[in-house]
Amino acid sequence: MEAQPQHQLNVMFLPYPTPGHMIPMVDTARLFAKHGVSVTIITTPANALTFQKAIDSDFNCRYQIRTQVVPFPAAQLGLPDGVENIKDSTSPEMLGTISHGISMLKDEIELLLQDLKPDCIVTDFCYPWTVESAKKLGIPRIFFYSSSYFSNCVGNSIRKHRPHESLASDTHKFTIPGLPQRIEMTSPQVAEWERTRNETTGYFDTMFKSESRSYGALYNSFYELESEYEELHKSTLGTRCWTIGPVSAWVNKDDEQKADRGHIEDLAEEPEWLNWLNSKQNESVLYVSFGSHTRLPHAQLVELAHGLEHCGHSFIWVVRKRDGNENEGCFLQEFEQKMKESKKGYIIWNWAPQILILDHPSVGGIVTHCGWNSIIESVSAGLAMITWPMFAEQSYNEKLVVDVLKIGVAVGVKELRFWLSVGDEATVRREEIVKAVVFLMGNSQESKEMRKRARKLGVAAKKTIERVEPLTTT
Ligand code: UDP
Repeated sequence: MEAQPQHQLNVMFLPYPTPGHMIPMVDTARLFAKHGVSVTIITTPANALTFQKAIDSDFNCRYQIRTQVVPFPAAQLGLPDGVENIKDSTSPEMLGTISHGISMLKDEIELLLQDLKPDCIVTDFCYPWTVESAKKLGIPRIFFYSSSYFSNCVGNSIRKHRPHESLASDTHKFTIPGLPQRIEMTSPQVAEWERTRNETTGYFDTMFKSESRSYGALYNSFYELESEYEELHKSTLGTRCWTIGPVSAWVNKDDEQKADRGHIEDLAEEPEWLNWLNSKQNESVLYVSFGSHTRLPHAQLVELAHGLEHCGHSFIWVVRKRDGNENEGCFLQEFEQKMKESKKGYIIWNWAPQILILDHPSVGGIVTHCGWNSIIESVSAGLAMITWPMFAEQSYNEKLVVDVLKIGVAVGVKELRFWLSVGDEATVRREEIVKAVVFLMGNSQESKEMRKRARKLGVAAKKTIERVEPLTTT
């Protein structure tokens, strides 16, 4: 019998437009293409610009990957041109409008799916309606959740047992039911969508339930990081899961790819921050970042600045220009000048090439808001962390880092706050910041062991990505 030509698998990726979801999904799509799959990423024009360079470069290396753009109804919604990403929102109202704009794309995307007839779709957990779209087309839908197995296990347990509802006060702790380890937390550390039942409860329930209604799920994680929770997740949900991380380290191997990831502007060939980092000793610098959404109130910025200035270590701090109020600009500019003169600290405004910085030999630790991507990127770089969770499932990730993996020290956040309503006051004092930095970067036996564990996980992450080599194209 004559051999039939092999059908090339055609997979469509639908990322949700916010950096913490879109960046790892685009990396995953690129990983699929590098393993011989024909890949299409569906997105809107301004979002496409943030990763187009990587796609073009992969395409030029003969991988089958392309972007399919659908227009975003910015004008119709009264949004400025190019505002298409959740991170662009500056108020809850604007967030509502951008989210509405994203939901308006459903019909257009369904038509595209009918036209392009993929073999399979990989869609963000924020698009539960794609379960039905896939069913109509008779193809599998793969659920993409851009956080940890651990956090999903914690969330499932809390949604099922609601242990935080029977506590006498917000300072009382509960043990999360059904986990292999004893993990304790308080009610204000529970993700907003699980803490109280309100008008968004049904919306989040549908998103999480869509995982077990899908053909399977992809997790940006790796075996040594949380295998116990991978097993627990599979056994409680009964879902097929594929552990495919760390995706950022897997597909962004050279400095240019690392520098370009997730933003539009080209990086200068020799940026000032790089010269600054190059002038520092190995593992002596602390990298401070709160991800793509978080804004700190002015009072908190002041505490953090003082804490960093007096912590005894050099630091690179990523600050959003749009943060806070008018006092802030002035305070931070003076602080920046002072730190430049003393060579103690460096401020990067708005967006940092995070994975490039984390991989720099001078960086010795990170202060993180515990977004999952920042955690897995720090782990991949073998770095221990100061954990400063802000919102969503970030306290759960903090528990994994501090209590399970023991590669981090908590700065002492007592309560999560939604990123667009962080209040006015500082909740973490300068002394607490200094204490955490001294522990993270210091010479006590405990600190050294913590950093050793982090380095060991970094080695495991590297081995994971060496195990499977992508296709070479000719
Ligand atoms: N990121 C970056 N530069 C920045 C801020 C964020 O490269 O200045 C990237 C970071 O490397 C990560 C993603 O944006 O891949 C943020 O995702 P994460 O889950 O850490 O936090 P979120 O922004 O969703 O709160």
